[in-house]
Amino acid sequence: DNHSNSPTPKISTSTCSDDIPKYYQVVVLGSDGVGKTSLTDQFMTSEYIGPTDTGSIDLEEDKMITVLLDGEESTLVFCDRPEEVDLDETQVDAFLVVYSTNDRRTFEAASDLLFQLRNEVATDRAIILVANKIDLARKRQVSADEARSVAVKLDCKYAETSAALNHHVDELLVGILKQIRLKMSQSAF
Ligand code: GDP
Repeated sequence: DNHSNSPTPKISTSTCSDDIPKYYQVVVLGSDGVGKTSLTDQFMTSEYIGPTDTGSIDLEEDKMITVLLDGEESTLVFCDRPEEVDLDETQVDAFLVVYSTNDRRTFEAASDLLFQLRNEVATDRAIILVANKIDLARKRQVSADEARSVAVKLDCKYAETSAALNHHVDELLVGILKQIRLKMSQSAF
């Protein structure tokens, strides 16, 4: 292959090397019962994933998924126990803010959190507002238009899922990685 006789010497630093697989930390936030655990469990069954060798990395409690997108593999490490994460300190690459479409209070809590994240914590990082439980269509209390407009105003992506039926969960997984790469390329300039 082209890389084997490359004349350019490889420069290795402790923080960045092409040989190290890219790990991105994703924190899943939202009110109790909106489906954070169900959603991350469904990510683990995605067709996009390859087996992830956790090696010596101590991430026993976290859920790791390797996604191949545009010919490049990246590993997403999910934390759905946000109480254990100090959002200001930890290097978080993406935030999922989940609410349940059949419970308006969870949407209001999610909107407040979105505002706080965008303005105080993750000013230039990926944030995705996730409307879960869309299978409960007849109990719906928040329209897609209303939620999307909140997301757009705060430069966040909007996605709708049903973790219970595994609808749009793979699309969300890929969408997370796309957003992370987009935000990284934007902040590189
Ligand atoms: P968490 O507290 O945010 O982690 O929420 P859980 O993942 O524990 O889910 C809370 C409840 O909602 C459980 O009974 C789930 O089975 C249910 N649930 C999660 N996602 C969905 C969904 O998309 N549709 C429906 N109908 N129920 C869901």
